[in-house]
Amino acid sequence: MSNITVCSRFRPLSSKEKINHGDNVCVHGIDAETFVFKDEKEENFSFSFDRVFYEKSEQAEVYEFLALPIVRDAVNAINGTIITYGQTGAGKTYSMEGPSVLECDEKKQGLLQKAANGLFECIKSTEGAVKHTIKLSMVEIYMEKVRDLFDLSKDNIQIKESRVQGILLSDVTEIAIFDPAEALQILSSGIANRAVGETQMNMASSRSHCIYIFTVQQGLAKEKRVKCGKLVLVDLAGSEKVEKTGAEGRVLEEAKSINRSLSALGNVINALTCGSSGKANYIPYRDSKLTRILQDALGGNSRTALLCCCSPSSSNAPESLSTLRFGTRAQ
Ligand code: ADP
Ligand code: MG
Repeated sequence: MSNITVCSRFRPLSSKEKINHGDNVCVHGIDAETFVFKDEKEENFSFSFDRVFYEKSEQAEVYEFLALPIVRDAVNAINGTIITYGQTGAGKTYSMEGPSVLECDEKKQGLLQKAANGLFECIKSTEGAVKHTIKLSMVEIYMEKVRDLFDLSKDNIQIKESRVQGILLSDVTEIAIFDPAEALQILSSGIANRAVGETQMNMASSRSHCIYIFTVQQGLAKEKRVKCGKLVLVDLAGSEKVEKTGAEGRVLEEAKSINRSLSALGNVINALTCGSSGKANYIPYRDSKLTRILQDALGGNSRTALLCCCSPSSSNAPESLSTLRFGTRAQ
């Protein structure tokens, strides 16, 4: 069985889509795993995923199916990665953070808040026997440069590999967290730093990848052994194609950089799923900073969940199809 869970999620039509294009929903659900997608030329495509979340799906359903098993594993020292993929406006950040990371309404909270809660709950249930410590880092990859979102002076973090600890972000800020509420305050400060950087560098958050890393250290009180599990959440840059004519200068460079790293991610996932038959094959982790950072939380014993986020509107059909095909290839 593959260690990769691939799901798709359709957000509700936005008010703009309703006004501009009528209630033109191009998704026709068959069941919880299969749907038919009708493109703007009325051509039908059938897709199947481990689970499909339609517009009425709750944040909790997405978390429980896709993330909870990975959160539980992280507490047991098994690395895991949860990725949101899709064009800008498709619902990646909403799935990850809800309307805001400080959102109080539990129904609206995203994978990030629920994962933070989940980690502490899992730890509580093992209380006594094992002592856990959780640390949090947040980085952003923009134009193949890794920036520390807890310390903007660290704007070119290097990626290293150690035999014992695996992939390391050199000198990255790690903040110890002791309860979920504190974790959310810290996450919120990192997200705010993202916005500060944006005005300075004049870039939109949709042009960079945001990576949240929870490291769960497990020190067995009696045995003096320390085990670590890493839970990585990735809110990817928008996967939309930039008009080939038209785009120039930095916009074009950004688009190329995003395209290269998303292709690299696709290639790594494909190599991993093809290799699950037992044949050892080459995994091209070094083709991008994104795949390099994810190297020890993607593949091997680790678990991966990919959420392919789509608009349900026919006006976005070409980009949604491209997202769904990325998801299909990852299976
Ligand atoms: P992305 O991060 O992919 O660019 P966002 O997550 O910012 O897209 O979503 C775009 C808009 O759609 C936001 O206003 C967001 O609140 C809304 N939205 C996305 N998914 C949902 C959903 N499942 N339910 C309600 N609103 C959503
Ligand atoms: Mg976003």
